[in-house]
Amino acid sequence: MKELVIATKNKGKVDEFKEMFAKYHITVKSLMDFDQKVADIIEDGDTFEENAIIKAETIAEQFQIPVVADDSGLEIDALNGAPGIYSARYAGEKKDDFKNVEKVMNELSNVPEQDRTARFVCAVAVARPGQKTFVERGTCEGRISMAPAGDNGFGYDPIFIPSGSDRTMAEYTSDEKNSISHRKHAILKIEQWLQDLS
Ligand code: IMP
Repeated sequence: MKELVIATKNKGKVDEFKEMFAKYHITVKSLMDFDQKVADIIEDGDTFEENAIIKAETIAEQFQIPVVADDSGLEIDALNGAPGIYSARYAGEKKDDFKNVEKVMNELSNVPEQDRTARFVCAVAVARPGQKTFVERGTCEGRISMAPAGDNGFGYDPIFIPSGSDRTMAEYTSDEKNSISHRKHAILKIEQWLQDLS
């Protein structure tokens, strides 16, 4: 079976990728499976796509195997697209999902329900040693809830209500989330490559 590495240490993302890649019969590893120290990656791109490419190419170069990297985040229209590419560290240098959620709640405290539109964005880059890298984007439209709810998922899931729903993403099962998420939509766009690899 062919092998690929997902260039992330975020357990929430790793679990979702593994579930979604299961049907392609590929052995999926993440950076959590390697003892070897992973090169420090400076994500200094201006877009989700640029950062996904930086991560994927750095890891493919180091381990000499195919790599899938995602860079993702939340765009809130009332905040002019923030936190965007800064989603992981929105409330401070140390990544803290709880503080990030709290910060969004505070910033939207005076914003009515109809103006709380938002979307999750995911850029997925595929890098292979000696071959050209490619990148695709998936999105999931929705709105920010008036209060957090639910314990599933990670990050901003407790305050994101997908379009057409009345539950937050953190109230979805993992199967439900993985059928509509930004990550799922990005992966569908690289499906041909995944099938060819397996
Ligand atoms: P990255 O690891 O630099 O791509 O940062 C992604 C950040 O965006 C995460 O730390 C989360 O805060 C947020 N994020 C990305 N995808 C999701 C998701 O599926 N649910 C909730 N938050 C997400």
